[in-house]
This record gives sequence, C-alpha cells and structure tokens, in this order.
Amino acid sequence: MKAEWDKLKDAQTVTADGKHFELAANIGTPKDLEGVNNNGGEAVGLYRTEFLYMDSPELPSEDAQFEAYKAVLEGMNGKPVVVRTMDIGGDKELPYLPLPHEMNPFLGYRALRISLVEDDMFRTQLRALLRASVYGQLRIMFPMVATLKEFRAAKAMLDEEKAKLIADGVAVADDIQVGIMIEIPAAAVIADKFAKEVDFFSVGTNDLIQYTMAADRMNERVSYLYQPYNPSILRLIKHVIDSAHAEGKWAGMCGEMAGDQTAVPLLVGLGLDEFSMSATSILKTRSLMKRLDSTKMAELADKAINDCDTAEEVVALVEEYTQ
Ligand code: PEP
Ligand code: MG
Repeated sequence: MKAEWDKLKDAQTVTADGKHFELAANIGTPKDLEGVNNNGGEAVGLYRTEFLYMDSPELPSEDAQFEAYKAVLEGMNGKPVVVRTMDIGGDKELPYLPLPHEMNPFLGYRALRISLVEDDMFRTQLRALLRASVYGQLRIMFPMVATLKEFRAAKAMLDEEKAKLIADGVAVADDIQVGIMIEIPAAAVIADKFAKEVDFFSVGTNDLIQYTMAADRMNERVSYLYQPYNPSILRLIKHVIDSAHAEGKWAGMCGEMAGDQTAVPLLVGLGLDEFSMSATSILKTRSLMKRLDSTKMAELADKAINDCDTAEEVVALVEEYTQ
C-alpha cells in the first residue's frame, strides 16, 4: 500500500474512467506546507487563519499576517491557496478580544459575524491578503456566511481595501477568486442565489452537519445524529454542487467528510470538484479514486439520494458499489 501511495505523490487525481478531481490540503500554519508537498497536495483548500490570531499574544499586525500569507503562497509554487478569513468564536477564543459569554456560542457571535463588526481587524486581514496576492494563486474565503447581505458586506470591504491599495501604488493580483464556506443550512438552501455572486463554494461539513442535524459536533450523547451519509446532508451537498456548476463556478469541500473513504465515492458521483483534507489522507484518497468509475458513482449517488431512507442504507449501498 505504502509503495503504491508513494508512486501517486506526483500523479494527477483521476478516476478509472479518466475524470479529474483536485485533492487539496487543510492547513493551520505555514509550517504545515511540508506535509502538503510531501503528500502530493495539488492545492491548499483551507488555510485556517485563526491560528495566526490564537498563537499571538496580541492582534497580529498587518505585516505579520502578510508574511504568513506570502510564505504559504510562495510555498505552494503557484498552486491555488484558499485562505479563510478568521473564524474565531464558537470554541476558539482570543485573549485580546474578549467575547461575551453566550448560551450557544456555536450559534452566536463568531467568524464573519465578528469580522463585519470589528471591521478594523477584518480590513487589516484583507489588506495583508491583498498585498500577499502577487506571490501565488490566492483565493479568499469567508466563513459562516448565512445571508447574501453578509457576503456582499464582506466583499464590499474587500473591494474597498483593494481600491485603496491600488491607489497607493501597491501591487495586487487581479485574478483573486472570492468564495464562501457552505456550513450553514440557510446558505446551502439558497446556493443557487449565492452562486451568481461568488467564485466558488467550499462545503464545511463539520459545521453543516451539526447545524442541519441540530447535533453539537462535540457532544457524545448526540453523536449518533452526526450523520455525514444521511440523505438530507447528501441532498444539500448535491444542491450546492449543482448550483455552482449551473453558474460555471466550482464547488469544493473542506470538512472532514472530504477525506472520508466512505463519502468519497458519493462525492465523486455528485461531481464535487475539489476535496480538501488533512495532508495525510491525500494519497489514500488518490489511490481510492483511481479505482472508481465516475459514471457508476453518479448512479450510486443518485440512488443514495433518492432511494435510501437512512444513513445506514447509504453506507450499505456504497459498500455494494465499491466492492
Ligand atoms: C467545517 O465546518 O467543516 C470547517 C472546515 O470548518 P471548521 O472545522 O474550522 O469549523
Ligand atoms: Mg466550520
């Protein structure tokens, strides 16, 4: 197995019938790039920038952020890098940004909701990203978007900072894609509307599943409800992918489900374009995809969504189709 995976390091990701997919990595710091390159990552599909904030005793300066983003872009040698703007709140706290105590922090003040209020902090991050954009292929992604209004507000701030930098003579790339995470059911349901305005989607299944099933992702007592293969989740994902494609956009996934070996055949069948996972899962996923026929997986996904009633039935169907 190991020898086979090693051979796949520099190979493209193609199914048995020749369909291409992109296998990307999730990272938390520039140091993680070594693992991405050693495991044949074709892109960074999620750079969780909140670690930059959490590892610092104070708000990281624009220059400190610029250096980190530049290091990641350069380290990927022109391959795409999706940088997610900070996702603080929920279970992630900052010593220098006291947040109110909340009854339901995962349903509360977090991620983009904070960025849109603490806009000095957000604009600093956006400027650092824009300045770094000339060092590679940058894609900017906003987390926890529920409404189009939030996306438009964030995008307007990005456009304003870009115009200011250009007016000051600072070089900024002109091909930066701007997308959103799909991790709130409301956004998944109107993905067709979002798809007209964003450049891409990345499905954050860790949160999307918890919010769709109303089951805390950390709570063991309700972990039986945390069901990636439930037809409800698969239908949402299908709608997101189809909506992106209808507008000529791409759809990726950066939640744990993207590297889950039972989910991969279903996601191949649904036509997901980009799979972002921990670097150590990339080679085994490339090896699995090589053995899959995309037409057969499309049939599997269709049956899972339309004929199966439960997650257990979906798992049994995947086993039948991948034997
Ligand atoms: C997700 O919600 O799936 C995701 C990738 O974001 P995080 O795990 O950082 O919340
Ligand atoms: Mg999330």
